[in-house]
Amino acid sequence: MNYSLFDLHCDTAYRMLTEHQPFAANDFAVSAEKAKDIETYVQVMALWIDHRASDAEGWSLFWRMLENLRRDPSLSDGTAAIAEDLPSANAKITMLLALEDARILENDLSRVDLLAKAGIRILTPMWRGETCMGGAHDTQSGLTDFGRLAMRRAMTLGMIPDISHASRRSAEDIFSLAAESGSPVIASHSNAYSICPVTRNLLDREVAMILSSGGVIGLNFYVGFLKENGKATAADLFPHIEHFLSLGAERALCLGGDMDGCDLPCDLQGIDALPNLAESMLSHNYPETLVRAILFDNAYTFAKRHLFQKA
Ligand SMILES: [Zn+2]
Repeated sequence: MNYSLFDLHCDTAYRMLTEHQPFAANDFAVSAEKAKDIETYVQVMALWIDHRASDAEGWSLFWRMLENLRRDPSLSDGTAAIAEDLPSANAKITMLLALEDARILENDLSRVDLLAKAGIRILTPMWRGETCMGGAHDTQSGLTDFGRLAMRRAMTLGMIPDISHASRRSAEDIFSLAAESGSPVIASHSNAYSICPVTRNLLDREVAMILSSGGVIGLNFYVGFLKENGKATAADLFPHIEHFLSLGAERALCLGGDMDGCDLPCDLQGIDALPNLAESMLSHNYPETLVRAILFDNAYTFAKRHLFQKA
């Protein structure tokens, strides 16, 4: 069976820059070569700001990462395209851009506009700790005053807020601001807290808020977010999937594998393993429509409404 794939989060752009390998073919989990059997492939490329970089260094790292991605041979030869509109028939792979860790705004609101101009469509405001944006998942703090202004501005410019990595309080703040702006809220790469109780996973009430906002949830493949002891295989996604489905997420559940940013299950080491995941979902008695919804259709429906910018 042929599959299409829409993945909401990978950190490949960071590895492309720091390990000097192109998107076309590399040692990573995500590449054009590994996508060759995928029918239609849309990948959100998160520009992850290395926590070892200061906020100021992170701002320049962001631009270097973006330039390196834009110069990639897969974009110049037409294999891939950064989405300005719906996936084109010409480019086999469509990329969407996200920023992971908006501390690089450094209290400067005008930088939000620069991110929008650069094509950033999803904003993950924090990664860890307390920053100019507010508290991440490992803190008790909510958004700062600047964090509120920045998120409000980002939503006005059409960027979608992502609560993966947010503290519970920051997530609450983001839900309120998004409700005022009429924007959906997503969790691009988080699992279910009631299955694996780590701070990066979603509480049931957060899932309900995402669903009522019209947002989507990307299942994270990181072994430590699948199972508390970290000894996880691809089959450990099933309890998370079933929990999300029990909360009514059948039209919102997607993949956000966190590939090239974490330790992956031994049977899910790259995007070329996704057909196996699909087969294993089918043999788990998931209807084919549900498998296709999780792998592609749900994210694609969301993206058509909220992520692809009209040309
Ligand atoms: Zn992340």
